[in-house]
Amino acid sequence: MRGAVKAGAEALIKERDYLSELDAKIGDGDHGLNMARGAQSALEALDEQSGAFTPSGMMRVVGEAFMMNVGGSAGPLYGSGFIAGAKALDAPDAALDAKTIGNFLHEFNAAVQKRGKAKLGDKTMLDVSIPLEKVFVDNADMPLAELLKLGRETARNAVEYTKELEAKRGRASYLGARSVGHIDPGAASSAILWREVSLYIEKNFLATAQAE
Ligand code: ADP
Ligand code: MG
Repeated sequence: MRGAVKAGAEALIKERDYLSELDAKIGDGDHGLNMARGAQSALEALDEQSGAFTPSGMMRVVGEAFMMNVGGSAGPLYGSGFIAGAKALDAPDAALDAKTIGNFLHEFNAAVQKRGKAKLGDKTMLDVSIPLEKVFVDNADMPLAELLKLGRETARNAVEYTKELEAKRGRASYLGARSVGHIDPGAASSAILWREVSLYIEKNFLATAQAE
């Protein structure tokens, strides 16, 4: 979990300018800064706690770091999603498998929807994380390596598809129809996170990753 968080956090920090450029088109241009700040504080919070530590405990620390250190809407939304997702990792049968990842995504999405009141198609991060949840729920029998790859393809396509959507929630909704034609920054950050974390799992636990 520590390695997966690190991989995701470093990617967000690296993509800071790209994410802010996307946000400059349909928002206020700070999404990269927000996510990089969340990522940095999550890394620091994990470093401070090096004792006996469960995966769900780490996920909670990451969520709290986003909640406490990130302004804007994405910080509290991701933060509450991570904290809720941690519950799925507490289950007695939690393992590195499709069921647990699906449960994590389910809790994440429920919390983000509860807080932000967005639904599928509103041009938000949920337009990546809801299709991802569906991949894991619908194909739980598929080998994990294939599922992770399918998840990456799904996330990539879902990000592209946000171009077609009109924003109904968040700052971009002020633009109405003028938000069409642009990628949603939160959808992009979700796909980056998913790509890095799933590649990390493949490389370190499945050893089947190939260049994509
Ligand atoms: P802010 O909009 O406050 O500047 P950010 O720029 O960091 O915050 O994040 C913007 C992203 O947050 C959007 O691209 C969108 O994906 C996501 N977002 C905004 N509002 C909501 C909401 N109500 N539900 C889900 N996601 C949202
Ligand atoms: Mg913004």
